[in-house]
Amino acid sequence: MEKRIFRSLTITSVAAVLLAVLLSLLAFHGFLMNENQETLRADCRMLREAVESSSLTPLEVLERMNGSLGHLRITLVEPDGSVAYDSGSDPEEMESHLLRPEVQEALELGWGEDQRTSDTLGESTIYCAARLEDGSVLRVSMVQEGLLATAAPLLPILCGIILALLCAGIVISSHTTRSILRPIAALAERLDGPAPEDCYDELAPFLRKIRGQQQMILRQMEELADDRGTIKAITDNMQEGLIIVSLQQTILSVNSSAVILLGARPRDYAGRGILALSQLPQLKQAVEDALDGRASAPVAKCGSRFCQLFANPVYLEKQLTGAIVLILDVTEREKAEKMRRDFSANVSHELKTPLTSISGFAEMIEAGMATGEDARDFARRITRESARLLALIDDIIRLSRLDEHIPTPMARLSVNTVCREVLASLEPVAQKRQVTLSLSGPEIWVRGNAGMITELVTNLCDNAIKYNHEGGSVSVETAEQPMSGTVTLAVRDTGIGIPSGSFQRVFERFYRVDKSRSKQTGGTGLGLSIAKHIVDCHGGRIAVESVLGEGSVFTVTLPAWREDAPSAPTSL
Ligand code: ADP
Repeated sequence: MEKRIFRSLTITSVAAVLLAVLLSLLAFHGFLMNENQETLRADCRMLREAVESSSLTPLEVLERMNGSLGHLRITLVEPDGSVAYDSGSDPEEMESHLLRPEVQEALELGWGEDQRTSDTLGESTIYCAARLEDGSVLRVSMVQEGLLATAAPLLPILCGIILALLCAGIVISSHTTRSILRPIAALAERLDGPAPEDCYDELAPFLRKIRGQQQMILRQMEELADDRGTIKAITDNMQEGLIIVSLQQTILSVNSSAVILLGARPRDYAGRGILALSQLPQLKQAVEDALDGRASAPVAKCGSRFCQLFANPVYLEKQLTGAIVLILDVTEREKAEKMRRDFSANVSHELKTPLTSISGFAEMIEAGMATGEDARDFARRITRESARLLALIDDIIRLSRLDEHIPTPMARLSVNTVCREVLASLEPVAQKRQVTLSLSGPEIWVRGNAGMITELVTNLCDNAIKYNHEGGSVSVETAEQPMSGTVTLAVRDTGIGIPSGSFQRVFERFYRVDKSRSKQTGGTGLGLSIAKHIVDCHGGRIAVESVLGEGSVFTVTLPAWREDAPSAPTSL
């Protein structure tokens, strides 16, 4: 731009200088021509007076005057047109001048003038002619110099002037260019600062407009940043992973949950390919499907987790513009489903075993293979298996009720009272096995469901009796833990104990340390799972410590009763 302005200004100043010189020359030339014309007229009049007032013949006068008027050509034309005298040529050789316009005019009017290229001299010439008293015509003429000839002597001066003017023009152009552009450049550098001192008025509207637009852009950018911040805050606080992918499969946005769920390294993934984030084949396929316009929701294993990837195409004005993937951690759901599947398989297996025995014994009795004492023995076995079956079905029903999370009424409950009742009901069984039961410790209160707490204590005490030695003991101990606001119930036995590797597993459904012993004692393998479920429902925890061959202690920790505790039924 600077060059263009400078070039335009320079060309303009050069053209102006040249035009001015040319016009000056033309004016000067015109002035010179007028001057010559006037001089010629005056000389013609003076010659005419000299000829007419002299006593000499016109020819003699003219010859004498010729010396002092050397710059003029003087011609004397007879009334018939023949040339009597010519200061420039031989009159003998000259043709008739009768038809020359100035001669014609002078013959007619007494005075004539003309300007033309001389036939005789071949140059641009001005003529003045005056009729003398004898009828002849006195003509004076002068060669009129052309523009170039006039300017020739002035050329060195003219060239000097032109050069000086051109230099001045270039310097002024350069200065003007700078003074036009300097404020603009200064403005561009500090658009938001005060206007520069040399800022001219014409820039003010631009400045106002630019500043207005700048403010608008800043406002819009702030709004955009706010929006982005809000969206980022929302997506970053989502537990679900969120990935937005462009048509070219590059990541436009990814939240931190997605990075964690996919087990990727925390870094900025914007603008990178989806494979940089994760190489899960399910994710790649889901994105490709979404970019083909198909939604999908595959489940993928990400490390130790299971994630469901909900991939959907994104349309903007009916035009596919990318894909969005929502990632949900479905590990718990998958685990629960697996547990349900395992449970169903276990239930079928557990039910099948006693039923097979029952039907076997029944078939043998039917076939008459058992008589007398054998038949009674078979009948006893059928009764025992049926009881086991009923117990099993009973436990399964209880467990599935607990799984349904039906709201259960809770109330203030004395754990000691429950323990006393349970121990009293188990006393006959304990006596049969020669196991002594005892209860000790302060009275502890919890917020709980009486039926469920009874079942919890029953299961623990029943196991403590079942897996005990003859002559062993079961002691139930209660304690308060004021520091943590909890109470504990410990069921201690002097039984067979549990290997340390099974401490956690004993709470799994259908897990038994010693299958045959459990079956012998009519165990279902569900008692401790039900106990754990009940403790979980009451917001507590259960743990076991045991030494093989010496005994075990099951400790239940429950929140202590508080007056300000909510009294509404809890969803279990
Ligand atoms: P079961 O109906 O077989 O007793 P439980 O769920 O009540 O099922 O217990 C699971 C397993 O834990 C039992 O089979 C047994 O092997 C072990 N167990 C439970 N309580 C005791 C205990 N007090 N002493 C030793 N082993 C026990």
